[in-house]
Amino acid sequence: MELKIALLKGDGIGPEIVDSAVAVLEKTAEKFGHRFIFTPYLIGGCAIDETSLPLPQETVDGCLASDSVILGAVGGPKWDGLAGDIRPEKALLGIRSAMGLFTNLRPAKLYPALRSASPLKDEIVGDGFDLLIVRELTGGIYFGERGYREGRYGTEAFDTEAYSVTEIERIGKVAFEAAMKRSKRICSIDKANVLESSRLWRKTMHELAEKYPDVEYRDMFVDNAAMQLVRDPKQFDVIVTSNMFGDILSDEASQITGSIGMLASASLGASKRGLYEPIHGSAPDIAGKNMANPIATILSGAMMLRYSFGLTAEAGTIEKAVDKVLDQGLRTADLMGSSLDTPLSCTAMTEAILKAI
Ligand code: ATP
Ligand code: MG
Repeated sequence: MELKIALLKGDGIGPEIVDSAVAVLEKTAEKFGHRFIFTPYLIGGCAIDETSLPLPQETVDGCLASDSVILGAVGGPKWDGLAGDIRPEKALLGIRSAMGLFTNLRPAKLYPALRSASPLKDEIVGDGFDLLIVRELTGGIYFGERGYREGRYGTEAFDTEAYSVTEIERIGKVAFEAAMKRSKRICSIDKANVLESSRLWRKTMHELAEKYPDVEYRDMFVDNAAMQLVRDPKQFDVIVTSNMFGDILSDEASQITGSIGMLASASLGASKRGLYEPIHGSAPDIAGKNMANPIATILSGAMMLRYSFGLTAEAGTIEKAVDKVLDQGLRTADLMGSSLDTPLSCTAMTEAILKAI
């Protein structure tokens, strides 16, 4: 396959970790006989410095002309004082909406080798867990009607949640298809005992579930789900939920793995083109020190191969290489806890993964 991949390295550790992911993707392409053509574009603080805009039009055009996009991270103290539309973070919303991305996939995996990083007790995590949160990204209360009005206690602010069957089905299909490729278990999370939008959500998911008889379906209220995630995360495989519930639950899920330097994410739309990025930020405290853990970005690259291009074996090869270096005991500083061993640098970890491939 020949594929055009746009690189949005961004700020802080962004360039270091994206370079690592590129090295791993190139090695994988070589092994499987593909050709990946990488083109970098400016985004975030570095784009403000050069063009005075966080998301130059050239970047948007470049992403839309590519087969998929890999993003590092944006922002940092240098640009913290900027107001309104020229904040680096504005670029993220801009590129997501320009690419029409309505799904956010957030895997939360606790590797057996990193069990001790989790804040959960050993008897809860056992030999690790592996779940995938599928979050609706462009609807719900974050995009609903809002404003101020006169209420019973005087002026009040309000936000509204609205979901259509079309929006629910669209995200539901992504989740059921993902479940088909995993353990075929799905849990839809809502607040259908209180919210009308959740009642439509639940009804629509039920109807969809009938079209996927091989997938074991259940639903759960969000308050219970927040509790179940820390009580017994192993019960979950795929979780599908609304924009706000997904925002909250995916942060909770990332924390119970204990290692944000390991977690990848994908944002998808109607086309194959997606935006793949680590869940962590630009980590300005360690930028330029060759200390960053590149694995979240490397695994984001693997997700790109799987979800944008259907290159399952290629993605699996990268994931297995990561498993292997962790089993060998190789660790970057963020994964070491109180160990006295010398940590691997970003480039040394990348080399180890290349070798494992
Ligand atoms: P955000 O940018 O999402 O608003 P933030 O700036 O608070 O959040 P991060 O940039 O993710 O958060 O950094 C939080 C902490 O985690 C920092 O101490 C940073 O050094 C560390 N960290 C983040 N990503 C990595 C990584 N890939 N490798 C090592 N440490 C990391
Ligand atoms: Mg940050």
